[in-house]
Amino acid sequence: MGRCCEKRVHSTHQILYDCRMSTMNSPSLLTVLASGSAGNASLLEADHFGLLIDCGLRPQYLTERLAAAGRSWDHVHAVLLTHTHSDHWNRYTLAHLRRRNIPLIAHPHHHAAMTRCEEHEPLRRAQLTREFSDDQVITLTPQFTAQAVAVPHDSDPTFAFRFESRDPTTGLGWSLGFASDVGHPTAALLTAFLGVDALAIEYNHDVPLQKASRRPRFLIDRVLGAYGHLSNQQASELTAAIAQSSSASSASHSPSASGLMGLVQLHLSRECNHPELAQAAGREALRHHAPSAQLITASQHRVAPSLTLIARPRIPPTLPESFPPSSPVQPRLPGMDAEPHLA
Ligand SMILES: [Zn+2]
Ligand SMILES: [Zn+2]
Repeated sequence: MGRCCEKRVHSTHQILYDCRMSTMNSPSLLTVLASGSAGNASLLEADHFGLLIDCGLRPQYLTERLAAAGRSWDHVHAVLLTHTHSDHWNRYTLAHLRRRNIPLIAHPHHHAAMTRCEEHEPLRRAQLTREFSDDQVITLTPQFTAQAVAVPHDSDPTFAFRFESRDPTTGLGWSLGFASDVGHPTAALLTAFLGVDALAIEYNHDVPLQKASRRPRFLIDRVLGAYGHLSNQQASELTAAIAQSSSASSASHSPSASGLMGLVQLHLSRECNHPELAQAAGREALRHHAPSAQLITASQHRVAPSLTLIARPRIPPTLPESFPPSSPVQPRLPGMDAEPHLA
């Protein structure tokens, strides 16, 4: 992606992007720059627009990660926040956004929470704060949108996003479900992610490792609770259900759309997970309905390989006859039909 475009902010909810000088189509890419409890940031590039999802590292570290991905701050045109836990935003990065005139898109409660740090006010005064509401579709460019989906997590509110890109001239596009911190799978999340072409979701911990860890009891209970994080098992079951919906959608419409093309595993616990365990859970989830999907496991300490989001014919998702799937892969999504309890 080159510096060919001029960014214009049109309204509270819209960031339109004028690509008058652009002549080439760039591939859409998701690149996880860092993922884990020490800091999260991912770069999603589409329609000549670079969106940083979360900014939980200091600016100098983000600069290094962007450079490692062959990018720079010139490729970042807005930041979108999932929630305000301290591993998802950084006060010094807010100051950096102000210096570079990069807008910060967040829920009003997020902005209110960040006013406790003095770096937020200059952003607001410079009209660089943007707001989205629950379930809102955020227009990033005319061809690149994000739908906010509220998810249970002990930083209220927390959002997952369904990103969509569509070229109206060709009818081709892609959809990506992105969910970083999630206490438990919900019907709303599953519905929002139906039929996506790619999925980025947390595979946070292995339950036996979590229970056997030397962590304080309250922390173990918090992570395992309904407002903590997804285990490998929970994430695997959710991935399998989404892969099934993607596979059913593509099979009934077009042979060129071949179900889930990629799975990116986010937010692995350093202490209570191993990449091999998360990958085994991810492969199991993909085994039936997306065996050829690319599997990427994000890391806290280095930039992950980019996932290329290939444009396909856009088709409405179709539910399989038995959905959610039945055992042995998916007896029931934990927490989907029960009221969660605070741990
Ligand atoms: Zn987090
Ligand atoms: Zn969190």
